[in-house]
Amino acid sequence: MVVPLMPHDQVAVWQSCLSVLKQDLHAQSYKTWIGPLRLTHLDPNEIILEAPDSFFCDWVDEHYRSSIENAVLNVTSWRPSFSVVAKNASDTTEDIPITTARTAPAVSSFPLNPRYRLDNFVVGDSNEFAFSAARAVAEAPGKTPFNPFVIYSGVGLGKTHLLQGIGDFSLKRGTAQNVVYVTAEKFISDYITSIRKREMSTFVSTYRSADLLLVDDIQFFLVTESSQREFFHTFNSLFQNDKQIVLSADCAPPSLKGFEPRLISRFQCGLVASIDSPDLETRIAILKHKADLQGFDLPECVSRQIAESHARNVRELEGALTRVMALSKLGGRPLTPELVNEHLPNLRSDVREICVEDVIATVCAAYGVSRVDLLGSGRKRVLAAARHLSMYLARELTDSPLKMIGSAFGDRDHSTVIHACKRIEAKIKADLVFAKEVEGVKVKVQTSQVA
Ligand code: ADP
Ligand code: MG
Repeated sequence: MVVPLMPHDQVAVWQSCLSVLKQDLHAQSYKTWIGPLRLTHLDPNEIILEAPDSFFCDWVDEHYRSSIENAVLNVTSWRPSFSVVAKNASDTTEDIPITTARTAPAVSSFPLNPRYRLDNFVVGDSNEFAFSAARAVAEAPGKTPFNPFVIYSGVGLGKTHLLQGIGDFSLKRGTAQNVVYVTAEKFISDYITSIRKREMSTFVSTYRSADLLLVDDIQFFLVTESSQREFFHTFNSLFQNDKQIVLSADCAPPSLKGFEPRLISRFQCGLVASIDSPDLETRIAILKHKADLQGFDLPECVSRQIAESHARNVRELEGALTRVMALSKLGGRPLTPELVNEHLPNLRSDVREICVEDVIATVCAAYGVSRVDLLGSGRKRVLAAARHLSMYLARELTDSPLKMIGSAFGDRDHSTVIHACKRIEAKIKADLVFAKEVEGVKVKVQTSQVA
């Protein structure tokens, strides 16, 4: 995760991109199509531009997208996901098309992760059916017979990716204006909070005003009867108004445990699609795609080697790839089948996601500070620097929310974490030696689970 650039920094970067574009494009094209664009948002993950209307958007997307992406890459070496939205569309979404429902006191939806898009989902036999249905739903939410659309699979096979990809596609194409993505857990906790704070009406209006409601991991609904009841009402209200509902689960609806029968039957009245484990060719294609995205030249024989030894799910495959890339960077050795062979027994072991504790342990070892001091409040320079770096790496390398990172660091506030990340980012930009040092520690964290 990346801390957003300040607005004036975003504008400065965009100005440089414009200079590049001006050189690259025909003057008339630049004036007609690039000049009228306004920058809404720019960071390493995403760039959002605003155009006067939806025709303009389509045209820019089709004809100038790659020029703009190249300009951004040239200026910043970032590869953010690109979107261009029509002025009116962005008015209705308060200029933040990628985040979802309006933030309300007791209810807030998860923003979509720009990594999860339909256009970077690798399609093979195992997921083709689910993917094509996802695409159809995203093109015309609420207007296909696939309502609700339920995707189920084991872990790490792409449910969250597809759900968020549908949201992303619909927002960018303007087929839905109000997209709400939540995990079932979040839905429940919002529900409970809204009861406690007596803000039930906010809860109801947030969820029931969605054009497209994406609820991830519904197997977690089993916790309370009342949250199931609330979900049932939300579901009916949306369904009756031809709004689209997309759900994911870890098993087929009839096997969901602890659900009221009326909910199970609702889940099955649209389309249910499963995702299976990818076959060898798809696994190789996924590895190649992921390595390409990071500009990493993955030899064909190595991708086959990894794909052959990681058959269970895509998350494991990604984990193995990250470690192989880290190994090659760390040792400064080219990636050969021999090197991979050397480490294959470790690579093959269960891949665990990096957690905040991995970061803390690695930073302590790298800077020779104790865990107690790192998490404590000592203000010595080396301690403060190590603390900031750990928070930054925790944010970069784990999926933990800021709040959790803060509490892992001796109950600090999430704003402290944001502050630390900003300081480190500024220093990385200003100081090449420091940037290298950070990269080195990062690789150590990534390989800490290999040894
Ligand atoms: P699930 O929600 O089913 O547990 P995720 O959607 O979180 O799985 O997928 C795990 C990881 O694998 C994510 O990083 C996702 O981007 C990636 N992934 C899964 N399937 C594909 C695919 N077909 N193409 C590209 N990436 C994929
Ligand atoms: Mg998931």
